[in-house]
Amino acid sequence: MQNLVLLAWLISGLFFIISLGGLSQHQSSRRGNLFGMLGMAIAVAAAILWLFGSGSGGSATDVLDPNGQANTSVGGLALGTAIVLMGALVVGGLIGTVLAARVEMTAMPELVAILHSFVGLAAVLVGVSQYIGHPPSANEVGDGILHLGETVVGVFIGGVTFTGSVVAWGKLCGRVSSKSMLIKGRHYVNLGVILACIVFAAGFLVTQSTAIGVSLLVIITLLSFVLGAHLVMAIGGADMPVVVSMLNSYSGWAAAATGFMLKIDLLIVTGALVGSSGAILSYIMCRAMNRSFWSVILGGFGGEVAVVASDGQTRKHHTTSALETARWLLESSEVIIVPGYGMAVAQAQHPVREICEILKQRGVKARFAIHPVAGRLPGHMNVLLAEANVPYDVVLEMDEINDDFPHTGVVLIIGANDIVNPGAQDDPTSPIYGMPVLEVWKAEHVVVLKRSMATGYSGVDNPLFYLDNTSMLFGDAKSSVDRLLQELKSLSAPR
Ligand code: NDP
Repeated sequence: MQNLVLLAWLISGLFFIISLGGLSQHQSSRRGNLFGMLGMAIAVAAAILWLFGSGSGGSATDVLDPNGQANTSVGGLALGTAIVLMGALVVGGLIGTVLAARVEMTAMPELVAILHSFVGLAAVLVGVSQYIGHPPSANEVGDGILHLGETVVGVFIGGVTFTGSVVAWGKLCGRVSSKSMLIKGRHYVNLGVILACIVFAAGFLVTQSTAIGVSLLVIITLLSFVLGAHLVMAIGGADMPVVVSMLNSYSGWAAAATGFMLKIDLLIVTGALVGSSGAILSYIMCRAMNRSFWSVILGGFGGEVAVVASDGQTRKHHTTSALETARWLLESSEVIIVPGYGMAVAQAQHPVREICEILKQRGVKARFAIHPVAGRLPGHMNVLLAEANVPYDVVLEMDEINDDFPHTGVVLIIGANDIVNPGAQDDPTSPIYGMPVLEVWKAEHVVVLKRSMATGYSGVDNPLFYLDNTSMLFGDAKSSVDRLLQELKSLSAPR
């Protein structure tokens, strides 16, 4: 039984690695997801097998060691534990399925953030309950200290992940202000909390009293809760993409720490995969936003999310119609479409694909430019375009297409704002100054499809809207794109 379970864990681990490899490319991402799901199904099945076959009540070592023999002293608990596990699986699976089916694509970051908080909370609960259930005995000093170290690290990372993720969830869904909360001397507060945790952790490692150990663990838990909440409260709304991926990384490390506590190799491997891939993603997002990785982690460097009112009353903008835009499109040899959050909200991706097809038939080269933080989720636009069956070879990343704007006839901006703001390049007072943006203003015509002159996520006015070569096509993105499609069809129809 032990060998079968270990083999299943090994296969799951391999599937998770193959899954990550698949997720790195559009073409293989569906396959990557399938491997991930399969790996998780095998892992869950192996866990159930492990409980049924060997009894339960403690960590993997309780059950499988020593020398691979089942720990029969806890065997009586196996059935009860398995029933609880199955109940939790069914209830949790149902809640997860309903939530995932109902969630709007634009609300995915909130869902992801709150799911990260569960991983953090699980690490805290496992750490504390492991300690209470299995306090170290005097005769296991060496291993005992190591195990206590794993416990305290797991609880600390889990605590930071838990409250950090809850605050991120609140900021993303608007329940908490997205402004950065910058209290005076915040870095000293953070440092003080970390030092206090180290001191309490040292006490936890040496104490012989379980009661004192539990008290210290609870204090460390509370301090880590404060630290997690404070770190994320200090991060401005403009840096939220990095926070989401950073918490993804933290949740991985929390899971890995739980794996060490429970001595489950699969959890260590999976946690390390999530932790390191999340860290790499955070680094990529930081580069995309021109932020220093450490300054975002330490919080407060995203700056205030200044809500700069649009000065649309004093500066003039031009408007256009679907018909005029359709004519410009058909007269161009090259068109670039820039999708943003508004396209996701309006669910306009399907008619957008049809527009591309018509342009292609008319000999116009139409491509998509994807900014790394477009929308509200890393890869948000890629997912939408893939869902609408847009061919991958016309979907280009910012670095691949940014030099092509000067020789582009029309740029269609569909519900995007911050990612095309020239102020990020030339206005040092702008909260998004320094963030690389798509240089759309270099094209001959720029048409912006949105409902009003309102600002984007960062709350900053966009000078692009007032340029001479920019025209606003007002309306919900879906209805504007539908009107544009109709005009293109009638202009392209044989007379
Ligand atoms: P923005 O939020 O900057 O702009 C979106 C624009 O879409 C708004 O100005 C809005 O204008 C318009 N819009 C909204 N609904 C509709 C609709 N139904 N039809 C037409 N237009 C609509 O989005 P971008 O994609 O340009 O930039 C992403 C922003 O989100 C960045 O600031 C990024 O930092 C942030 N972010 C990104 C995350 C990520 O991981 N990608 C995570 C968290 C935040 P109007 O109301 O006038 O229609």
